[in-house]
Amino acid sequence: MEAQQPNPVAYMSEREVQTIISSFRSALTMYTNEVEKLQMKNEALHSDLQGEITKASGLQEELKNLQLISQEKSTTLDAYQDKINLIEAGLSKISTTHATKSQEYNERFKKSFDSDTHTEKSTENFMKTFYELVETIKFYEQQNILLRKSTEDLQDDLEKMNSGERICKMCLHCKREFIPKQNKDGDCVYHSGKLKYYSCKGCGDDAYYNCCNKCMKCSEGCRRGKHIPL
Ligand SMILES: [Zn+2]
Ligand SMILES: [Zn+2]
Ligand SMILES: [Zn+2]
Repeated sequence: MEAQQPNPVAYMSEREVQTIISSFRSALTMYTNEVEKLQMKNEALHSDLQGEITKASGLQEELKNLQLISQEKSTTLDAYQDKINLIEAGLSKISTTHATKSQEYNERFKKSFDSDTHTEKSTENFMKTFYELVETIKFYEQQNILLRKSTEDLQDDLEKMNSGERICKMCLHCKREFIPKQNKDGDCVYHSGKLKYYSCKGCGDDAYYNCCNKCMKCSEGCRRGKHIPL
């Protein structure tokens, strides 16, 4: 027969048991406090994290905007460069033509006046030259007005761009950005139909437009027109 295991509690006085229980209680209180503190810390970290996430998404949004603006600026600047080249070419053509023409008219007038005999024919020639000159001056004046208008438009846009205003608009049809002032017929190439998912008549691709049954790879667009702002 085995010897009976002594019951440890049986060897403790009630006082000793009370001491152990109270030390357990104080340990429990301590742990509970610790857990509460950790929970609070956790909540604080969580809200910090939330704040960081909000900040990061704000930065992302800002970055996207900056990217859009810089893209727009480079598109606009390219367009302006083209426009400036055209204006410069126009101005240089006007000044060259003007120099040639004025020399030509000078000679013709001189010839009319130098004639010893002012016949009916020489007077007629003089008047003809005179009216041609008037027409030429009118033409240059018109060209000058057009070029001045272009320059003013450019200055206007440049000021807007510098003040952060958006110049480009998104097109409803082709979903590309365009500059409204420079929007001409034929600039916008798009499909007027809906995007369907079966097969393109050109290449058999999955997605095609039902206006011409072709995909974007086979045809950039089957319609042409001006861009329409969204
Ligand atoms: Zn089409
Ligand atoms: Zn195709
Ligand atoms: Zn368009």
